[in-house]
Amino acid sequence: MHNEKIKEIESELKSIFEGSIDQKRLEELKVEYMGKNGKITVLNSLIKDVPNEEKKEFGMKVNELKNTFNTKYEEIKERLEEELINEKLESEAIDVTLPGTNILSGSAHPIERIIESLENLLMSMGYDVVEGPEVEKDLYNFELLNLPKGHPARDAQDTFYIKGDEYLLRSQTSPVQVREMLKGEGKEPIRIICPGKTYRRDEDDATHSHEFTQMEGLLVDKNITLGDLKGTFEEIAKMLFGKGRSTRFRPSYYPFTEPSVEMDISCFNCNGKGCNICKGTGWITVGGAGMVNPIVLRNCGYDPDKWNGFAFGFGIERLAMLKYGVEDIRVFYMNHDVRMLKEFDRREY
Ligand SMILES: [Zn+2]
Repeated sequence: MHNEKIKEIESELKSIFEGSIDQKRLEELKVEYMGKNGKITVLNSLIKDVPNEEKKEFGMKVNELKNTFNTKYEEIKERLEEELINEKLESEAIDVTLPGTNILSGSAHPIERIIESLENLLMSMGYDVVEGPEVEKDLYNFELLNLPKGHPARDAQDTFYIKGDEYLLRSQTSPVQVREMLKGEGKEPIRIICPGKTYRRDEDDATHSHEFTQMEGLLVDKNITLGDLKGTFEEIAKMLFGKGRSTRFRPSYYPFTEPSVEMDISCFNCNGKGCNICKGTGWITVGGAGMVNPIVLRNCGYDPDKWNGFAFGFGIERLAMLKYGVEDIRVFYMNHDVRMLKEFDRREY
């Protein structure tokens, strides 16, 4: 009777293991046969009814049954795990024939490009790059630069004042030069450029912006001439607008320089013949400059009998508009499309 029980379980398991078994079913079978009250486990309790001479053989058969189950269990478990891994590998496989994601690379902003190329050139000529605060004192922005209160030239720089008339948003980068001269205490020669943001109460349109960028240069030393300034400007003009450019100075007026000049380059579009970019003159004005006014030198602690020098200034947006053929200044701060920046890659000399 007990041997029949064993045979019964044996054939039961045989047909079960021939069928298909998933992970869940496999664990159920383990409980059903090998658990605390499992069909194989309870066979042990039958041994007391087995005649003594058969006890040993019965015990061996029960063990055999256990071993058979366990071997089969491990075998199926391993196979199921392998199938799972293969399935995963298949579903997560990378299809190398799929088209890739297009990654857009950045491109330097035209204003930044002009500043960087000017910095590189002038640093190679011994200039240091210096920055200053954008909220400035009226004293540094105007007064020490020979623009006392009530001076008519102040009107040309309609200024944002902050709290009364002492502090303002700098209307030019020149106050950085004042700060450097005061630091030099009338003893050290100076060779600096100061790029940075400047602010004026302008109505924004195609050629005006209330916020714009300047770069000024200042050289203070001994026995400096207008010829030194001309040579420096020539280098800048050729670097920005190509080797073929001619330069010229035209007399002008700035309170902080004496004499003052407008810096012109020969038109890069018509080569001097006259076109709509140069308004028929063959020349384009790109900046202002001059010999540092002795009054400014004295205001800032330098003895004009011993020291002299020159200063020059550029509107970076104007240079960028000319160089890259941009007709509306707003293009530079309405950065709505990286393709716009890419466009400037094609316009380098
Ligand atoms: Zn022209």
